[in-house]
Amino acid sequence: MTRSMFRCLITVFVLLAAAAAIHAQKPARDPNQPIDEEYTRKIREYTTEPFFNSPLTDYLPASPNVPTPKTVLGDIAGAPGKLPYSEEVYRYIRMLEKASPRVKVFSIGTTEEGREMIAVAVASEQLLSRLDENRARLAKLADPRTINLNDDEADKLVADSFPIYYITGTIHSTETGSPTALMELAYRLAVDDSAYVKSIRDNVVTLITPVVEVDGRDRMVDVYNWHLAHPKDNWPPLIYWGHYVAHDNNRDAIGLSLKLTRNVLNTFTGWKAQVLHDLHESVPYLYDNTIGDGPYNAWLDPILTDEWQMIGWNNVSEMTKFGMPGVFAHGNFDTWSPGYLMFIAATHNGISRLYETFGNAGADTVERTLSPSQYQRTWYRQNPPLPKTRWSQRNNNNYEETALLTTLQYFGAHSKLFLKNFYLKSKRSVLKPKNEGPAAYVLPGDDPRPGNQAELLRTMQAQGAEIHRATAPFTVVLKPGKPERPGGEATPAASPSPTSEPTPSVATTRTFPAGSYIIRMDQPYSRIVDALLDYQYWAPNDPQTEVYDDTAWTMGELANVGVVRVVDTKVLSVPMERVNGEIGAPGAVAGSGSVYLVNHNADNALVTLRYRLRDVDVDAAEEPFEAAGQKFNRGSFIIRKASLDELNSLGAELGIKIYAVPQPPAVKTHAVKAARVALMHTWLDTQNEGWWRLAFDQLHMPYAYISTQDVARDDKLKSKYDVIVFAPVGAPPASIISGMPMYGNPLPWKTTSLTPNIGKIDSTDDMRPGLDWSGLRNLQAFVQQGGVFLTVDDTASFAVNYGFTPGVTITRANRLRAVGDILRMKTVDATSPIAYGYSDSLAMYCANGPIFNLSNLADGSSGRRRSGQRATGRGTPDDPDVVQGRPPSEVPESPKAEVWEAMPLSDEQRRNEVAVIPPFERPRVVLRYGDMKDLFVSGLLDGGDEIAEHAAVIDVPSGHGHVVLFSTNPVWRGQTKGSYFLVFNAILNFDNLNAGRKVDAR
Ligand SMILES: [Zn+2]
Repeated sequence: MTRSMFRCLITVFVLLAAAAAIHAQKPARDPNQPIDEEYTRKIREYTTEPFFNSPLTDYLPASPNVPTPKTVLGDIAGAPGKLPYSEEVYRYIRMLEKASPRVKVFSIGTTEEGREMIAVAVASEQLLSRLDENRARLAKLADPRTINLNDDEADKLVADSFPIYYITGTIHSTETGSPTALMELAYRLAVDDSAYVKSIRDNVVTLITPVVEVDGRDRMVDVYNWHLAHPKDNWPPLIYWGHYVAHDNNRDAIGLSLKLTRNVLNTFTGWKAQVLHDLHESVPYLYDNTIGDGPYNAWLDPILTDEWQMIGWNNVSEMTKFGMPGVFAHGNFDTWSPGYLMFIAATHNGISRLYETFGNAGADTVERTLSPSQYQRTWYRQNPPLPKTRWSQRNNNNYEETALLTTLQYFGAHSKLFLKNFYLKSKRSVLKPKNEGPAAYVLPGDDPRPGNQAELLRTMQAQGAEIHRATAPFTVVLKPGKPERPGGEATPAASPSPTSEPTPSVATTRTFPAGSYIIRMDQPYSRIVDALLDYQYWAPNDPQTEVYDDTAWTMGELANVGVVRVVDTKVLSVPMERVNGEIGAPGAVAGSGSVYLVNHNADNALVTLRYRLRDVDVDAAEEPFEAAGQKFNRGSFIIRKASLDELNSLGAELGIKIYAVPQPPAVKTHAVKAARVALMHTWLDTQNEGWWRLAFDQLHMPYAYISTQDVARDDKLKSKYDVIVFAPVGAPPASIISGMPMYGNPLPWKTTSLTPNIGKIDSTDDMRPGLDWSGLRNLQAFVQQGGVFLTVDDTASFAVNYGFTPGVTITRANRLRAVGDILRMKTVDATSPIAYGYSDSLAMYCANGPIFNLSNLADGSSGRRRSGQRATGRGTPDDPDVVQGRPPSEVPESPKAEVWEAMPLSDEQRRNEVAVIPPFERPRVVLRYGDMKDLFVSGLLDGGDEIAEHAAVIDVPSGHGHVVLFSTNPVWRGQTKGSYFLVFNAILNFDNLNAGRKVDAR
């Protein structure tokens, strides 16, 4: 044994001994440190049962110079009646920073409404003084290419480094407990001298964002304060959380549309943190849902899923030993979708974690009665919650803090293991091309939608991906025999092996032009790119029957942009250069002449262009044409009187190619106007329409924001608006009319001195009234007078049920399970302006949308009939029956129609045409669901035959206007940018939707 080996061994022993000592820390206070007597007494007073507390939180250590949360709150954390605004939380955190060298506050960005987001780091002075050098080491572990994937080098870095554990609070605004729990946790971590807490702050930097949804927090506190001021009244439900969406703010880690997602993502990746732990409050009493249930997301490193088990079970086990009931893991959360905020860590080589604790949506202490599914014992919940108990916000804070402290202690005690795993996961992400593949994703340089392509690439950049661009054409091997289609998979020929059959056919290849984008998989964040661009398959017979969320998100398909998965590793050595800066599509005016042409390719920037040229006349070509050596699609813009300078700068800014020509093309046209648009919302729920507002705002498409109550009062809608958009509500059609029940007191949603943060997006004296029958009449008059009413999913059902769309009916689904999946649509009528810019097929997001049937009769009868089997009689199943004792009579041919079409009218129906819809008012099908064989694109589809071939997007002429029905949802969670333009087409062509229409002869 050499001296150095001996020294090494000694070091190992010392380290092991130290780890064991750390891990053995007893969860108990330091008897030599005084406690804050009054604070401690209040903790016990507000905790409703002794077993709802732990040795970690049943006291508060005193400090001569560091203020407790009481300084700002006026009472302790979790006290009844105390819900601090974000500003109060921040004030306290900054007081802590001033008073303690163990606390450092960082501003991490702002919200949509301009409120600040912060992250506070708490650790020993020693660790905090070494943050920058530590980050430099973590950056190398996070990107193992910097150390040539050298494990020995990594071990040295791990030995010198300490980890970052990032905790985020109250993303869900009705889940109110975490800000005070996190204020107190920060205090404890900074002040407590117990060996247990000391071992945390000496080994881990705890990074805390106490309020993630800051806009929503302040509105929630308003509502709670209103409730305190009106103790006998019902209080208004929190209809707006963030500026755009409510609980879906925790589904944005795919599309990154919200500022809070980007701020947390940038903080997580910027700090090179190891964990992202998000706090929620919807399950009694503490559900560590990290381990969850299957199916697990298929793109994660198994090292991570093992870490989930380790940390999750330690957490449950420690709290079980404290005697705290209702602490469990597993449960019914499937771990499939990468849309959750915490999943930022899972897809970026960290560890995602989530607690559901129990809360009262406010700080009242109340009796809570649970349902059997919540209190019954299950295999994973051996010590379940109590069927009935008094519950307080303090209980909630005890659970959250105890759970976090036990987890932080465990994490700190095993920090070297988790740091090493962090390195290994990052390294295995870099090795992806050589191991599981693919080698790269390629986005072809000749994509017909360069604007949407650039937008998709910018999202990948925001996810932290490096993107390259081919500097020359290149060819890769594709799977033999596999037909090519946009977004399809390209894998190389199987290499011959002794055990397998010889490769059946010659490998095919595909050549990509110079300028094609390449996202290499030999980079640290390859995993998120693979997860987002790949296809999803959820087996219809998967044992998981309670699907938690969307099952598909394939982003190339949803963006209507070509994405090719390439397994051939040759792709990594083609000539390419790294793209620096944000990716944009090229755009400017080319050629010369006084007429300007813009190809309609359904790039979303075109709607921005139209509204930016608000005062300029723009026409749409009703047929394809060729000019300036280019092919132009139906719907292409023809602009006559515009300033060249303006078009040049708009083209460059928006990434749009504009062709100047001397003469307008000889093609039929109609005007494309900057329509006056209203987005109508209910006071029942604004969750889904929020994604529509966000899409319109991102593209600078102006709109009026109106409620069903405004429509109820306004019988001159057409004088103000050309199009009323009614996004999905998530409520039954009847409640759109009735609103909320009119029992009890009015429910105001308006700005007052008591509620300064609500009523800004929209306001009302009373949230309860709905559209009412007057609103229904006003909407119908709006359509009759020439307006376009655009409806989607459940609001399409509303339009059908309330008589807007004669001839359309909805079939109830029996077996269909299209659970947030992606299905293929086929274009039925490419001449409809709604289809402008699209090809003959489009992948769309679907969530069990309505199954439409068409009829030429107003009441929808004589709708689609599946051809019946023959009656009992002579012969084989295909034979005609024969009546005996007379010559056979001739059977007239029965009328035929496709599934998406109306049946032709029969002679009997024409005898008296009272109910026959005049030909020019018959529903016009624009898109339909694909045939069963090519309907499925991604996710979970079961019973698809029930919806296959049925109409999906229908334009129903009515009076002088139109009602547009969508069975699919074209605007969803910032992910479906490829289908947005179906909506924009309906808007821009609102007064010419009949263009290209073929009317039945009779
Ligand atoms: Zn939640």
